[in-house]
Amino acid sequence: MILKDKKALVVGVANKRSLAWGIAQSFAREGAQLCITYQNERLGQNATELAATLPGCRTEMCDVMVEEQLSTLAGRLKEQGGLDIVVHAVAFARTDDLDHEFQNVPLEGWRTALEVSAYSLVALTRAMAPLLEGRNGSILTLSFLGAHRAVPHYNIMGVAKAALEANVRYLAMDMGPKGTRVNAISSGPIRTLSASVIGGFNTILDHVEQWAPLRRNVDQTQVGDAAAFLASDLARGITGQVLYVDSGFSIV
Ligand code: NAD
Repeated sequence: MILKDKKALVVGVANKRSLAWGIAQSFAREGAQLCITYQNERLGQNATELAATLPGCRTEMCDVMVEEQLSTLAGRLKEQGGLDIVVHAVAFARTDDLDHEFQNVPLEGWRTALEVSAYSLVALTRAMAPLLEGRNGSILTLSFLGAHRAVPHYNIMGVAKAALEANVRYLAMDMGPKGTRVNAISSGPIRTLSASVIGGFNTILDHVEQWAPLRRNVDQTQVGDAAAFLASDLARGITGQVLYVDSGFSIV
């Protein structure tokens, strides 16, 4: 029960395959009081049905690109006693902008990917920072190896993840004096809704299984358990870092 009495917000549950849902399940098992959010009404039913399987788990709708929705969410969470943990498991790029040669990415596609996948961490942090202050808070986001390596088909998302990881370092500098830690987990490839738009994803999964030191892919439970550690006081000395949960593939 390493998260006993901690209040956690998990942003980015689309369905049962979402990394956010894996994280929510690990957090619940470790004793956290949870609020999960979904992006829009279309995804509301999934989130509500999933939340019903975890005792005391609440749901809220929040589009992280709408400042008003972020401040409404912060207001509600404040009324409910503030926050100790924030998880950002959000990314988006238009399928067309992932598919073609990288040099052809249009400005609009670049902006969309960078805004939703990287800027949203800054906006979410700003909205939730007052709720975390003085509570040894922890903010987590999710990255991928494509931030550092040119992964086929990952294209603009790689650039967005590089920006996201830089965000982690600058936010860690801002938030550290207020007692809040900011870290990322770089997850190995996992079949989810977002991953389904990345071309050749099965080839990536096969390649990791063949070459990763552990000779297997990771799953949502492994990301969830690492997130529980990073969010807990056991990781109180860790901030501004990217922790790889990838069966060791990134060292090969
Ligand atoms: P997913 O599709 O289940 O989750 C992505 C979530 O982002 C969805 O819930 C979607 O609604 C949400 N989202 C997009 N735009 C939003 C907005 N404007 N406001 C609020 N929410 C918004 O897929 P996932 O793979 O679980 O992705 C979660 C995170 O994990 C992403 O950052 C992704 O890049 C990262 N990641 C995934 C993998 C993988 O292989 N699946 C690997 C490494 C990192």
